[in-house]
Amino acid sequence: MSLSSQRIAIIGAGTAGLAVATLLARQQHQVTLIERASALTPVGAGLLLQPSGLKVLESMGLAQAMAQYGARIDALYGDTLSQRCIMHSKYADLSPDLHGLGVHRASLCHVLDQGLAAESHQRWMDTTVLAITERSNEVILELQRGASGSAAVKDQHAFDAVLIANGSASTLRSADLVRFDRQYPWGALWSILPQAAPFDVPLLQQRYHGSHTMIGLLPSGSTPQNPSQALTSFFWSMPVTQMMQWHQSPQHFDRWKEQLIKLWPAAAPLLAALTSPQQLIPATYRDVILKRWATGRVGIIGDAAHAMSPQLGQGANMALMDAHALALALASARHGSWEDVWADYHQQRSGMIRFYQTMSRLLTPIFQSRIPGAGWARDIGFPLMNQLPWLRREMALTVAGFKTGWLSAEP
Ligand SMILES: Cc1cc2nc3c(=O)[nH]c(=O)nc-3n(C[C@H](O)[C@H](O)[C@H](O)COP(=O)(O)OP(=O)(O)OC[C@H]3O[C@@H](n4cnc5c(N)ncnc54)[C@H](O)[C@@H]3O)c2cc1C
Repeated sequence: MSLSSQRIAIIGAGTAGLAVATLLARQQHQVTLIERASALTPVGAGLLLQPSGLKVLESMGLAQAMAQYGARIDALYGDTLSQRCIMHSKYADLSPDLHGLGVHRASLCHVLDQGLAAESHQRWMDTTVLAITERSNEVILELQRGASGSAAVKDQHAFDAVLIANGSASTLRSADLVRFDRQYPWGALWSILPQAAPFDVPLLQQRYHGSHTMIGLLPSGSTPQNPSQALTSFFWSMPVTQMMQWHQSPQHFDRWKEQLIKLWPAAAPLLAALTSPQQLIPATYRDVILKRWATGRVGIIGDAAHAMSPQLGQGANMALMDAHALALALASARHGSWEDVWADYHQQRSGMIRFYQTMSRLLTPIFQSRIPGAGWARDIGFPLMNQLPWLRREMALTVAGFKTGWLSAEP
């Protein structure tokens, strides 16, 4: 069997879909990227690209373009109300020139999209994949073109293989593959604000009060629409059950803002740009564990394969690394079968993904919960860990996205 010039459909034009589409188009496969949105609009808040994800962009020749819209991040710094340092994880603990990059999601999509635009491919926007049916030698996609309603047109298309890259809430992955799929009980409200001193420094900063209150500020670079405006992403941790009431109770906004400034007085100039509850957008996260990330001729990558909480800032990195691993697997199985591709992809990715999903699950409640003593244990434990050189290095490796297991890391 030959796997050259395959007709491959990629469902979803997010980080994973755009990256894998570019890499597979460069291998001369006949790539069709299918996205339900009518355009890649500038939506989303800031993402932290870790050194592991930046390595993938470097290998794709896109690191420089990304750096143009990104903000260098040297460390993750978290403290309490009394300004006691709880977390200070520096990339320089691993190597002096290592760093992360705070980026706006729209800029990451823009840079990946530019990379893909240079390759021969087909792109079907405003097209939703409704169902996937596998036959012996091909996969049939049932599509809906246009928004639902009378204007929508349904049709079917056949491909040699399909990659599901449609995000954490995917309903396209086969139910047989899903071992666990739940929404995290806490999410965050976020907003993008113009950068202001003293937060124009290369740090992702967090402020904690117990495990029930967490504020995050991430320098997020700029967008292609306004490259001269430096931005900061603001995050406010909140239980999902309270999010519904947020926009319905505008009278609480002023009180909430007063409370916010008491928690972090230095952030007052930055937060002055927050003037209405509508500026705060709710985000929820899922925890998704699949038994396998492929079956037959259908593979799954990115959040659709392994959604996790953003506590460790790994979502976009994992998506980029999945795309890279899958492209490598397909290139080396050129004379093999799709089973060979999936086996190689699993082998490259399973250790890392298992590690980060477990860590996210363990760490999230000590930053986002009302578990008695959780914040107290964190405030005692993290500074102690930071004093032990081996643990400090392990924390830096974890944040940088290099861990492949409890005792292993990528070189
Ligand atoms: C609108 C949006 C905003 C986000 N904002 C943030 C953020 O601010 N901060 C953060 O850390 N992470 C954010 N994320 C998540 C982050 O981008 C991902 O964790 C990470 O980049 C991995 O991406 P992915 O490609 O696996 O999935 P995603 O980025 O979720 O992309 C999935 C894509 O699939 C499309 N899609 C879904 N179903 C179908 C279907 N049936 N047919 C065709 N297309 C479909 C979606 O429209 C989307 O473009 C956001 C995701 C989205 C979709």
